[in-house]
Amino acid sequence: MLNRRMTGMGSTIFAEMSALAAATGSVNLGQGFPDTDGPREIAEAAAAAILDGRGNQYPPGPGIPELRQAIAEHQQRFYGLTFDPDSEVLVTAGATEAVAAALLALVEPGDEVIAFEPYYDSYAACVALAGGVRVPVTLRPPAFRPDTDALRAAVTPRTRLILLNSPHNPTGSVFSRAELTAIAELACERDLLVVCDEVYEHMVYAGEHIPIGSLPGMRERTVSISSAGKTFSFTGWKIGWVTATAGLVAAVRAVKQFLTFVSGGPFQYAIAEALRMPDAYFRGISAELRGRRDLLCAGLAEVGFAVYPPDGTYFVTTDVGRLGDADGVRFCRDLPHHAGVVAIPSSVLYDDPDAGRTQVRFAFCKRPEVLRDALARLERWRAADADRVR
Ligand code: PMP
Ligand code: GLN
Repeated sequence: MLNRRMTGMGSTIFAEMSALAAATGSVNLGQGFPDTDGPREIAEAAAAAILDGRGNQYPPGPGIPELRQAIAEHQQRFYGLTFDPDSEVLVTAGATEAVAAALLALVEPGDEVIAFEPYYDSYAACVALAGGVRVPVTLRPPAFRPDTDALRAAVTPRTRLILLNSPHNPTGSVFSRAELTAIAELACERDLLVVCDEVYEHMVYAGEHIPIGSLPGMRERTVSISSAGKTFSFTGWKIGWVTATAGLVAAVRAVKQFLTFVSGGPFQYAIAEALRMPDAYFRGISAELRGRRDLLCAGLAEVGFAVYPPDGTYFVTTDVGRLGDADGVRFCRDLPHHAGVVAIPSSVLYDDPDAGRTQVRFAFCKRPEVLRDALARLERWRAADADRVR
């Protein structure tokens, strides 16, 4: 029944693999969500807001003023960027709605949208919803660096915008200043908009996160998107935001109004407090996740995966070709039954099915004992497999 515009819109793999994890009692290193909730005081702030009657009725369309102010302060504190909380900040139902509203607002039917593949699953769907044409530029292992020459070659007179994601899900690539500068120069030269999904901004282990909107000429053409889900480990709350010029925010708001109108009233109060936590909290996120990244990367390499250690996000991409499997989708559908572990086949996040055929993504936003359990399961599976072959 699905209309033609939406066919090939992306995959439902995240939900499928979480359901498979539940059905098989597997350790779920697939869908990216932490197994530990965020700070207790922030949960209490949400509970207090509900009980005090703050946000229980429709909050203001652009988001409550306290949260818009806190988002503006966050952009100033971490990046020295100044946004007017009244006209240049918009609260959304997670980054997901921000991406959807931005693309629906800014893409005309037939416009081309360039994005680096593999890409987060909602991008393809939202480009399709907007009637746009997605134009992938491939990030390739081992380093998954953006090829800015290929990006330049992909621009045509129909190109409307570049949809970026750095730190990048699923590869963990963090775009460097030089790479972002090349992208920014191209955007300025060809008069393109840039929508940048920065939800992993506080999860960086090498290099630094640089908002492309901070580069020369980019403020007026960048829509920056982030979310509280990752930073504060409350992925179920779905509080996201957009920062951009007043004109761009007004365009995105015009669409957002008819997608959800508003959402998450009491959670908005809690996230306003969360965004004002001390620098140590934000530094702590990467410090803690770095250890988990190292644990999982080393363990997976030990088991026999080719591992591409990420510079950011809480995902690691591996290659299962070495384990004798030529197809990541089949590998991931079998793995819960063989080993009791769930992962995501990255090939579903590519337009070019061959590009990532043997790539498999594991999430490390889990307690160390859970990661160790997953590794022990994988080791047992490989050992049993080796015995069978002998
Ligand atoms: N963008 C990327 C790159 C993501 O990985 C996610 C993760 N869920 C989202 C957007 C969606 O964020 P949210 O849960 O805030 O909608
Ligand atoms: N961002 C998370 C991931 O990449 C969740 C995705 C989803 O459930 N749509 O795994």
